[in-house]
Amino acid sequence: SPGLYIVATPIGNLGDLSPRAADILSRADVVAVEDSRVTAGLLRHIGVKRHMQPYHDHNAEEVRPGLVSRLSTQAVALVSDAGTPLISDPGYKLVRDARAAGHAVVTIPGPCAAVAALTLAGLPTDRFLFLGFLPPKVKARADAIAEIANVRATLVLYESGPRLSACLSALAKGLGDREAAVTREITKRFEEAVTGTLANLAARYADTPPKGEIAIVVAPPGEPEPASAEDGDAALAEALTRLP
Ligand code: SAM
Repeated sequence: SPGLYIVATPIGNLGDLSPRAADILSRADVVAVEDSRVTAGLLRHIGVKRHMQPYHDHNAEEVRPGLVSRLSTQAVALVSDAGTPLISDPGYKLVRDARAAGHAVVTIPGPCAAVAALTLAGLPTDRFLFLGFLPPKVKARADAIAEIANVRATLVLYESGPRLSACLSALAKGLGDREAAVTREITKRFEEAVTGTLANLAARYADTPPKGEIAIVVAPPGEPEPASAEDGDAALAEALTRLP
């Protein structure tokens, strides 16, 4: 039936395309895609041909009204090159405008590198903050890190291989040398998760930028340290008074 379908696609292993995602893609009147070559490969895999409409950062403003107006009579599926649309990928304005115009919006959830990275890292998952890609420039990156240094949550971010080591160093500098995991090529042949402190990991990748796709997971800040030895003693004395 007509409406906007947000369809998650594999992040490396085609076996992760859900039956429901395949079903929606095979019946959509139009598939809004980031890159038609990438999605053509996916459609070929499931043996279907669909009309594709490129929808990416450079044409979204221009194309969006047309896509929204189709929704009264057509099923429009939104996909990105890999993973879940809207997560460090285009789409939220399309969802916003579709809703504002009163159209149905349906999600077909599935692979997402950020969530998959959390499942591999072995770090707390009860509270996490997804940062997407940090700004590549040194000052802007340091500012972005300073802004979240006190957040009591595990951090998840995306980064490219060539920038990985510099990013890990900046994180160590701005957050302290926390435990972290570098996850790479999730669901693909060379999937790995390398754990260590931020500084260790920065050193490890300094001379050999890793290939492939990367997500970083960083532990939350430790328990707050007593501000001084005196405060520590005071806290201890206070705790002792509460012992039975
Ligand atoms: N929307 C996607 C999702 O749900 O995961 C993310 C899109 S973002 C433009 C692409 C980035 O996600 C990559 O540069 C990489 O940092 C991360 N990523 C995607 N696939 C990955 C994989 N298989 N393993 C590790 N990281 C991955």
